[in-house]
Parts: sequence; C-alpha cells; structure tokens
Amino acid sequence: MRLQSIITAILTIAMTFNTVSFTSDAKKKDEKAKYIFLFIGDGMGANHVATAESYLSYLQGKLGGVTLTMSQFPYYGTANSYSADKNITDSSAAGTAISCGVKTYNGGLGVDAEGNPVKSMTYDLREDGYKIGVMSTVPINHATPGAFYASSNSRNDYYDISTQIVKSDFDFFAGSGFIDFRGKKGEEKEAIDVYLEKNGYEVCYGIEEFKKDSQGKDKVVFCQESNRAESAGNYVSSGDIPADATLAEMLQLGIDYLTDEEPFFIMCEGGDIDWTAHANKTMPMVMDVLELDEAVAVAYEFYKKHPKETLIIVTADHETGGLSLGAGPEIIGWETLIEQWEKDGKQNNLGWKENSDLNRKSSIGWTTGGHTATPVPVFSIGKGAEKFSGRMDNTDIKGKILGK
Ligand SMILES: [Zn+2]
Repeated sequence: MRLQSIITAILTIAMTFNTVSFTSDAKKKDEKAKYIFLFIGDGMGANHVATAESYLSYLQGKLGGVTLTMSQFPYYGTANSYSADKNITDSSAAGTAISCGVKTYNGGLGVDAEGNPVKSMTYDLREDGYKIGVMSTVPINHATPGAFYASSNSRNDYYDISTQIVKSDFDFFAGSGFIDFRGKKGEEKEAIDVYLEKNGYEVCYGIEEFKKDSQGKDKVVFCQESNRAESAGNYVSSGDIPADATLAEMLQLGIDYLTDEEPFFIMCEGGDIDWTAHANKTMPMVMDVLELDEAVAVAYEFYKKHPKETLIIVTADHETGGLSLGAGPEIIGWETLIEQWEKDGKQNNLGWKENSDLNRKSSIGWTTGGHTATPVPVFSIGKGAEKFSGRMDNTDIKGKILGK
C-alpha cells in the first residue's frame, strides 16, 4: 500500500470513529426530555384510579367510561413494587427504588440494602443543568419527597432529612410543611425556616406570599398558609389542616417559578392518597386521586405547549388497601357513599367498623389497612414515553427517565 493510501485509510477510520462517537453523543443528549414531570400517587393502585373514574361516571349518570387525564395518556405499563427485604414495600423503599434505581429495605431512604447512600436521578439531572422541583400534598420531609433529595438509614429521621434540603441546593420545594420541625422532642435550637433561610432558601407560606416573596430568589420552599402558625413547632400535614393551595396550584407555582427557559425535573406527589387508603376511606381517597389528576392536567397543559420536549409519567410507589371495585352488590353504591361524605367530609366521625360496613354496603372492597404487593400502574406521554409501556421494575424508572 502506498503511503498516500495508508494515510487516507487512517483518516477514513478516524473520521468514521468520530462520526460514530458524535452520533452516539448527540443521540444520548437527545433521548432525555427537556421538561420532565414525575407524578407519584402514594398508595395509588390501578383500582384507586378506576374507583375515581367510576365516581366521575356516576356523576354523569353512567356506569363507566369516564376517564381521568392520566388514563388518557397513550402509554401504559405496570411496575413491580417489592423491596429488598419485603414483598410488600413501604414508601421510603419504593421511593428510593424509583428515585435512585436501587432496591433497599423498608424504612431505608436514599440508601442501598446495606445502608450506603445512593444517588437520586435529581442529582444526575442537576449535573446536566436541570432545575429541580420536589413537591407533595404531605410534609416535604416525608418518605416519598425525601427520597428525591435525601439519604438516611431511617425515614423517621425527619429533622435530619429536612436539613438535607440545604445540601441538595435544589430550586423549588413545596408541601404542607415539615414533620419534627425542631427535632423529635423539640430539642433542636433552630427552627428549620431559620435554618433554611440562613442557607439561602426563601420560605413562603401560602400562594400570595409566595408570589410576592419568591421574586428574584434562587431557591424557595412553599408551605401551606395554615402551617404559618406552626412555624416554631412541628408542622402538620394536609390531613389535619385546611390545605389552602391544591397540588395543582403548587405545581403551577413551581412551573412559573422554574420557567421553561431552562430544562427542569419536577417530582409531584399526591401523598395523602396513601393516608386515606390506609383508613379505607373511599370518598376522601377518591378526592385525593382527583386532586392528583388535577395536577396531572396542569402538566398536560404544559406538555401541549412543548410536546416534543416534555415527558410526563404518572405512577405509584405501591398499592394501599387491597382495593376492589366490587364486594357484593353489582351496583357500586355511590349515592350512599356521597351522602355520608357530604355529612362528614373526612369521614372522621365514622368508626372503623361503621366505615367498613359503609364500604361493604356500597360494594367497595378493602382487604387491608396496610400496603399490598400488587404491581402499580405507569401512565406516560411525551418524549420517550414509549419506554414506559409493558412490565417493568420500579428500579428501571430512573434509567428510562435519564434516557439510558
Ligand atoms: Zn402507606
């Protein structure tokens, strides 16, 4: 071979390699959506969604057929929820599996089965220039939101988990407030709003204050207005306080705050679906699913403006209550359920037995006051959504979101 041909051959090979590596880099970058919404309905099995849809159908005088926004998404899959040490997971192990792609023991948060810290997708996305939002209807330091910014050997170390907000340096947090705001026995000297504000976070209570005080701030924490009075003590969850901002409103605040100028990732949790499902309270659970779906609709509006760059996923960490649409009569007793709910919105006045009787009479079956091992639904739409169809493990979700 003449020298000229050898050089040409080498150049050709080098160029080919260049092209290959350039293509794979470009492809890799291209695979991830610019705007990512991950919704987690805590405890929301497929039947929780179906029950909410049955209720909406009843309101329209139909036996079925009315669907939530999430159910209208084109891709549908199911995810395993078992943890590293139990068939039946808790929220921290499942939140860790979704967020970090690693199974851990029940109670472990952002750690592997041996207790070593693992990396949430939020930190990967942060490194890639994404702004990060974490929000929930329940406290910001509860298991599911916590799994997206913190690592702890126990989900119950609420004070420590909330201090990790500062370490995360993430942009937007929202929720009802915090649990163990001053430590388990109120022994911590500084309340977290002082702690957070000293470290660059603007803590806002309620929508009006948020709109005023978040302007021009780098990092913000939104708490429900009704938790303002609790600022020196333990914050409570939306189960016990009037929630003045709905999840949809919190999400809208988050979208407006993060803007569409830079890529963002938002984890948005309907946290109290799990709490009402633990109590087997059918109508309050339906309302919680509808509240989550209302937030999904806000993301869907955003998607319609940026369809090629947005990915929306709606899933659950586990199923709660072993819910079944059917427990005797062939007609679901919506009339009876609604009548009781209108008398006592949270159904707090019904004892466990009376509530069970109401459910049974209305043909709603609940098999447990705890979680179950039933796989959970995964609804998705947008860029890369096709990867979320079919059967998957909850640990696959991180890689699919990151475009791997
Ligand atoms: Zn639970």
